[in-house]
Amino acid sequence: MIESTARARLVPYHKRKLVLIYAVMRHFAADLRAAGWTVDYRAEADDYPAELAAHVERFRPRAVRFMEQSEFGRSDRYRAAVEALGVPVEITPHTGFLSTAAEFDRLAGTADKRVTMETFYRVMRRKTGILMDGAEPAGGAWNYDAENRERPRAGLRFADPPRFAPDAITQSAIDFVTRTFPDHPGTIGEFSLAVTRRDALVLLEHFVRERLDTFGPYQDAMVRGNREMSHSLLSAALNTGLLGPLEIVERAELAYRSGEARLASVEGFVRQIIGWREFVWRVYWKRMPEYRERNALGATVPLPAFYWSGDTDMACLAETLGAVRETAYAHHIQRLMILGNFALIAGLEPQAVNDWFWAMFIDGYDWVMVPNVIGMTLHADGGYVGTKPYAASAAYINRMSDYCRGCRYDRNDAAGADACPFNALYWDFVARNEARFAPNVRMRMIVRNWQGRPAPVKAAIRARAGEIVRRLRANERL
Ligand code: FAD
Ligand code: SF4
Repeated sequence: MIESTARARLVPYHKRKLVLIYAVMRHFAADLRAAGWTVDYRAEADDYPAELAAHVERFRPRAVRFMEQSEFGRSDRYRAAVEALGVPVEITPHTGFLSTAAEFDRLAGTADKRVTMETFYRVMRRKTGILMDGAEPAGGAWNYDAENRERPRAGLRFADPPRFAPDAITQSAIDFVTRTFPDHPGTIGEFSLAVTRRDALVLLEHFVRERLDTFGPYQDAMVRGNREMSHSLLSAALNTGLLGPLEIVERAELAYRSGEARLASVEGFVRQIIGWREFVWRVYWKRMPEYRERNALGATVPLPAFYWSGDTDMACLAETLGAVRETAYAHHIQRLMILGNFALIAGLEPQAVNDWFWAMFIDGYDWVMVPNVIGMTLHADGGYVGTKPYAASAAYINRMSDYCRGCRYDRNDAAGADACPFNALYWDFVARNEARFAPNVRMRMIVRNWQGRPAPVKAAIRARAGEIVRRLRANERL
């Protein structure tokens, strides 16, 4: 096992994320040794291929076997580094996913038509038998989203997730990151994440018992000071391999079958894991490497400095960016409808946004960022992952959160000096892309709404949007 500091500097990763990865690795090595394995652990090393070559030269193995890497092109590079030393390489399939490329290709067909998440999800439901009653979906429907999406109520609270105090191994990872990556963004704070399989199983069990039932109704809600809401926080454990996707959805299904959690919540959660997660993994492998460079809407505004600092008067962004800086986590709807939505409607440059998410999130890896950011969030893939862009004005943010109350900007205004920036940017986004979105059945009504406005109103909104973009380009405070 190799700790590559060169790899950790590829983008300026959040300190907390680096601690997580090194703590998981160090604990895993200790568990392997306790189980009788010999581990060649290269701590605080620099370059991965050089260390791999040094390992091969020292141990002269008959072959090197490793699991397919989750990052495009990396398996090929490692294979070449080992084969150059005359040692054969065997690559085994990735164990963190349930789907195969063939299952995705079957849906795409020879003409390579667009595959929707919903279609792929049903294939995964049938394959795994999760939430299936014979050939039929449990409860008679595949998707219970209509029963979810409740607005947040005042005083909404959920059980706190379990916290895991650092032991000596985790502390060694904290010390290493503090010493080696002082300039990286974010704070380590009171580190309390799951770093062993044992911890991860406790996290899963706690989520299923305490929060799964409310996951569905409140999955789109955002409340100030309530960072996790009813989300599972399982992505970090899942993406580092501490948990597997099947055991998670099997435990969730058991909760439904035993009456612990309602079907709409369990189905909504299962859809995230064997629907969305498997889908984006397949889209990544199908579309890379060109997918990462897509910019279908021609967005060119540089990423503003406040994404790193959190220094903005926009309350929704300040709240979410504060959470990211302190915990390297924000839940899905904050990522999509606050951070992502702003980047989309302001026309921020997709690859810079992608790399920011990749660096700052505890669960961020290339395979999951590229389809989520370039595809789902920024529509830079021209509509492959989602037919309709996830663009919204303050009306949506106010409906689904309590952020607008007390914000210095006026959520009901689009053109004035104190108007909420989301409003002008939203309508400017529609105007900029009028020709593209007019034929889209899911956008047509919005385009018509814009077209029907009086010319002076449109001009005032676009002037306000122009001023905001000018300030973004000049890195002035908003
Ligand atoms: P929950 O809300 O409890 O969901 C359960 C699980 O479903 C997650 O743990 C995750 O494994 C899976 N999941 C749900 N949606 C997705 C999705 N769209 N893609 C992949 N898995 C999904 N997820 C990551 O794992 N890593 C990322 O770097 C990441 N970046 C994102 C960036 C943007 C802009 C957006 C819009 C989404 C991103 N997601 C990412 C997807 C999703 O937001 C996170 O998986 C989720 O917020 C993690 O928190 P949780 O474990 O509490 O999730
Ligand atoms: Fe965000 Fe606008 Fe609401 Fe302020 S008014 S919190 S900037 S949506």
